[in-house]
Amino acid sequence: MSPNPTHPHTPLPPWIRKRLGSGLQYHATEGLIHTLGVQTICTQARCPNQGECWARGTATVLILGEICTRNCPFCAVAHGIPLPPDPTEPDRVAQLTQKLGISYLVLTSVDRDDLTDGGASHFRAVMQACRAVDPSMRFEILVPDFKGVQREALEILSDARPFVFSHNVETIPALYPKARPGGDYHRSLALLELAATMWPDTPLKSSLMLGLGETETQVLEVLADLRRIGCDRLCMGQYLKPTKDSLDVEEFVTPERFARWADQARAMGFTWVLAEPFARSSYHAEQSGARHKVDIE
Ligand code: SF4
Repeated sequence: MSPNPTHPHTPLPPWIRKRLGSGLQYHATEGLIHTLGVQTICTQARCPNQGECWARGTATVLILGEICTRNCPFCAVAHGIPLPPDPTEPDRVAQLTQKLGISYLVLTSVDRDDLTDGGASHFRAVMQACRAVDPSMRFEILVPDFKGVQREALEILSDARPFVFSHNVETIPALYPKARPGGDYHRSLALLELAATMWPDTPLKSSLMLGLGETETQVLEVLADLRRIGCDRLCMGQYLKPTKDSLDVEEFVTPERFARWADQARAMGFTWVLAEPFARSSYHAEQSGARHKVDIE
C-alpha cells in the first residue's frame, strides 16, 4: 500500500497508484534530459506521471531555472533568488526536442518576477531555437501570471505564435491566500482574458487541482469564470502532497466524481477536457493539443 504523506497511518485510496519509470524509452529520455542539462517540471514538481510520460518519450521542459520567485506551498519547486536566464538553454532544449523526435512540446517556467518581461523573451527564444531545427514544432506554453507586465509579455510572445496558451488558476479564489499567496485569482483571469482578446484564434487552457478544501459550488464558479473569459480547454486533477512540508490533501476526489466533472465542463462549453485523478496540465498534451485553430504548417 502506498504511504499517504498527509496522514501517514492512513493508506492512499486504491486509485492513487502510479508505476515507476522503467524501460528503454524511459531511460533514453532520462539520459538525454540529464546529458543536455535540461530541467523538467516532471522532476521538479515530483509529478506522479513521470514514469509513464518519460516512457512515452515526452516531458515538460522547465525553463528559466529551478528557483521560483514565488513560494506556493502546494508546489515542490524551490523558491528564492534565481540566476539570470541561461543563454545556452534555448539550444539545449532544441537539441532535446530533436533527439527525442517530438513535434509538440509543453514549455513552462518558474515565476520570474525579477525579470522586467517576466521571462517572456526567454520563452520566445526557446521556441525560436526549436523551430530553427524543426519549423513545424508546436508548443503549449504554460506561463506564469506575468505580474505587472502582462501586455508587454504577450506582445513579446506574439512573435512566436501559434501555440496553446496555458495559465493555471490552480484553485478557487478563496484558497489563494493558503495555496497561492503570491498569486491573485483575478490577475490570472486577466492574463487569460488578455490572451483571448489579443489572440482570438489561439486555444486557451487552464488547470485546477482538486482536494485542497474547495466546495463543488466554488469549483463551478471558477469554471464559469474561465468560460466567460474565453478559456476553452480545461484540466482538473487531484492535488497530491509533493513533500512533507507541502499543503495537506483535504480530500481525495473519486474517479467517478472526476468523470462527472468532465461531463459538466463539456456541458459548459469547454471543447477539450481532461478530468481524472492524475490529470496534470501537460498530461497527454501532445495528443490532445495537436490541432490548433490556426494552422502552422
Ligand atoms: S504529466 Fe506533465 S509534468 Fe507530469 S510527467 Fe507528464 S509531462 Fe511531466
